[in-house]
Parts: sequence; structure tokens; C-alpha cells
Amino acid sequence: MKAYTQHYINGEWVEASSSQYLEVTDSNTEAVMATVPAGTAQEAAQAVVAARAAFAGWSALSVEERAVYLDKITAGLKARSDELTTTIASEVGMPLKMAGMVQVGMPIFNWGNFAKVARQFEFESEIKNSLIVREAIGVVGCITPWNFPLNQIALKVAPALVAGCTVVLKPSEIAPINAIILAEVIHAAGLPAGVFNLVNGLGPEVGEVLASHPEVDMVSFTGSTRAGKRVGELASQTIKRVALELGGKSASVVLDDADFPAAIKGSVGACLLNSGQTCSAHTRLLVPESRYEEAKTLAQGVIERFTIGSAFDETSKLGPLVSAAQRDRVLHLIQLGLDEGAELVAGGPDKPAVDKGYFVQPTILRVQRHHTLAKEEIFGPVLVMLTYKDEDEAVAIANDSVYGLGGGVWAGTNEHAIAVAKRLRTGQVDINGAPFNAQAPFGGYKQSGNGRENGVFGLEEFLEVKAIQRPAVKA
Ligand code: NAD
Repeated sequence: MKAYTQHYINGEWVEASSSQYLEVTDSNTEAVMATVPAGTAQEAAQAVVAARAAFAGWSALSVEERAVYLDKITAGLKARSDELTTTIASEVGMPLKMAGMVQVGMPIFNWGNFAKVARQFEFESEIKNSLIVREAIGVVGCITPWNFPLNQIALKVAPALVAGCTVVLKPSEIAPINAIILAEVIHAAGLPAGVFNLVNGLGPEVGEVLASHPEVDMVSFTGSTRAGKRVGELASQTIKRVALELGGKSASVVLDDADFPAAIKGSVGACLLNSGQTCSAHTRLLVPESRYEEAKTLAQGVIERFTIGSAFDETSKLGPLVSAAQRDRVLHLIQLGLDEGAELVAGGPDKPAVDKGYFVQPTILRVQRHHTLAKEEIFGPVLVMLTYKDEDEAVAIANDSVYGLGGGVWAGTNEHAIAVAKRLRTGQVDINGAPFNAQAPFGGYKQSGNGRENGVFGLEEFLEVKAIQRPAVKA
């Protein structure tokens, strides 16, 4: 058990002013693995003032100078990747090998990639007699969740810094240790004081200061739709730019001409990544009414191969959920589904045969469109199956959600899948099991948010646009 007692403000590790701390539990053992200080509103404001003071100098550096700092941070993270992997496997519970690739490999890629993207980006262009300049928006407050904690931080902090913004980060209180390691790496990279600041703590205390402080120009938030609405409300008082990456209830639409074994296997896998604690997880599986029994048998065969166990056990395919609260919420929703009349296809609310850890059995339920589980984000290893009569109804069901983040379409040809993908009201669609593209824009329609992260779209979020008019040149 390690007790962290400091925040990182203005280039220094400073002792927390309050003696209140937050416990971080290991999802695999339920033991307290660390404590972090519960930051105060005053500490958050202090960090904002430091970021504001650092902005003029940092934004005046060349893109190349800032990109070199990102390269140093990328190298620093690589050097500590084993430690980061075990840390996140403990905090979040993702099986170790997968955590190394997704939870650590991906953010390292993104830090390096944003340096490359910025080096290639055209910060200046022309329209007639105007010079169009893309400039850093200013001080950015970054508020992040626990499910892919280091990557969600990378997708905000790396593009913000390379764009010339200064940053105050408030990571999730549930998985904050990886962010402390990142701050150590950033400190070692020698960034000027105040350019990056880290204040740990709770959303209503630290997060709300970032959302409302007049010296913060933009707040970039990833988390629940509930907290995102609050952040948007607070930020509106100072007309900040607000980028929200929120929840999802994405559908995998299996069309009649699809390769069913591949489609069902791919859909179950796209639901269960990170024990279903993935905002863009394909958590609704839509199959033709006439082929429900076939799809159900296939799904049962796939899900039984997801052996649950500790992230540190090599045989585990599915780790625990992040916390007792998350486990209890998911179990409650499974029970609610059954009470509303859902058919249990696999798994269920019974405790799995594991001594410790916040485990839930991987579960499949067949639900009806009006059921709560057809609509509500569960954020656990729970897939719901729905049936449709024809393609129009499949599209209507897929779009019958307040969310619009991701989705999948499986069809006999890519052309057929793309035609249906274009009808889905979501920010991403994967067709026929295509892999995730870390350069492609990621973000939501509807209540899944209003921002885009990754690659060049992710960089543009942190830029303002200025038009400078020049007098016409006399002939
Ligand atoms: P959460 O909303 O509880 O917390 C997210 C962050 O917001 C945390 O740092 C938290 O402390 C902070 N926060 C909470 N209340 C706040 C407030 N009033 N003001 C300011 N900040 C506040 O979400 P979570 O449980 O950490 O994450 C799970 C949710 O995140 C899910 O709904 C999931 O779908 C979503 N998510 C979305 C994406 C995406 O890119 N769209 C990615 C990952 C997770």
C-alpha cells in the first residue's frame, strides 16, 4: 500500500493542503493498493493560475520544440511500461497481456503520434486576402474516467500540449496512480513549470472548479453522460469550449447475408473488451428474427470461452469489474432485466466461483425494445440480444437510443455493410469485424458527446481559428 500525499502544480510536487485522502482498490483482490489526496477547490484554482501563467511562454514555442517534449514523454512512458501495465491491471482489472497492449501500448502510441500529427499539420493557410492562423485555445481542464485511464488522458493532454495549450488534469479517483506516473514522466522530460498540472480528487470538488473557472478556456471531459451534463452547464457560464466524450449503447447489426459464426464471435468480443467497461462496446446484438436460435447457440458457444480470473492469471480472458460499486450496479441491472421478462441466454447474476475480486459472470440476455436493458448503458460484461424483421427495422432499433457512439455492421459484402453503416446515427461504425483505427476520429452523436479524439481531428479540438486580413497588394 502506497500513500501518495502530493499534487503536481507549477512544476513541483506540492503537499496536499487537506489530510483527506481517497482509497484506490485493486480490482483483483479488493485490497486497498494506494491512497491519493482528495484535492480541494483551492488547489484546483492554484493549478489553473499556474497554467495561465505558463501559457504565453509555452504557446510561443515552435511546434517542433513542443513536439520534442512529446517525444521525450513518449520515451519516458516506454521506459516505465511494465510498471504502468501492472498498475493499470491492478486498478482496472484488465488481463495483463491485453493491458500491456491496450492500456499502455495505445497511449504510448498516441503520445508519439500527436508529435507526428502536429509536425505535419498546417497551422497557417490562406483565403483570398486573409491569413488563417490556427492557435492554441489556452488553458485546458482535462477530466478523465477510469476504464482506459492512461489512454483517455493521452487523447487530451498530448494534443493540448503540442497545440500550445497548458493543462490541468483531474484523473479518475478510481484509477489515479497511472496519472501520477505520467506526471513523474512529464516532470523528468523537463517541461516548463505550469505547462502541465495534476490535481487528484473528486469530480464535485476539483472537476467542477475546472469546468467553471474563468481562466480555463476549454474543458475536455470523458465520462458519464450525467457528469458531462453538469460540466456543460457549469462551463456555459464562461462560454468555454466544451468537448464531451460520454456513454454509449452501441449496436452490432448482423444482417441476413453475414457470415454468422464470424459475426457472432466478433460481436461478443466487441462487447466484452475490458469486461464490458468500454464506452464504445457493442452491447446490443441485433439478429434477424428468423435466425435467432442459430445466433443464440453460436453466442452461447463463444461466451463460454471467456474464462474469468485475476488480471495476473495467464488463463484469464476476462478480468473483474473496477469496483464493488460497479459490480453491484451491473448485478442489479441483470436482475432488473430478468424481472422485466428478459430471457437468460448465458451467465446471470449468481456469484462466480472466484474468492476475491469484483467479478460478474459474462452474461447474455434476450430483451425486447421497451426493456430497460435495451436502452441503459450497463458498463459490464453483459450483451443484450434483440431481433428484427427486416433491414429497415434493424436500422430503426440500432438508432433507437439516446446514445450514438459506435456500432458494427456484419454483411455478406462490404458494400452492403457500408450502405447500412451510413444509416446509423453514430460517430463510428466497424464493418465486418474491421480493427480499431487509432488515427480515425472517435466521438459521439447525440448524448454520446460532441467532441472528436485521435489523430488530426483530436488535435484540431484544441485550436482556435484567427483570420488576419491583409491589404490588397497594389499593382
Ligand atoms: P464519471 O462521469 O463518474 O467520472 C468521469 C470523471 O468525471 C471522473 O474524473 C470524475 O471524478 C469526474 N466527475 C464526476 N462528477 C463530476 C462533476 N460533477 N464535475 C466534474 N467532474 C466530475 O464516469 P466514470 O464512471 O469514471 O466512467 C464511466 C463512464 O464514462 C461511462 O458512462 C462511459 O461510457 C464513459 N466513457 C466514455 C468514453 C468516450 O470516449 N465516449 C470513454 C470512456 C468512458
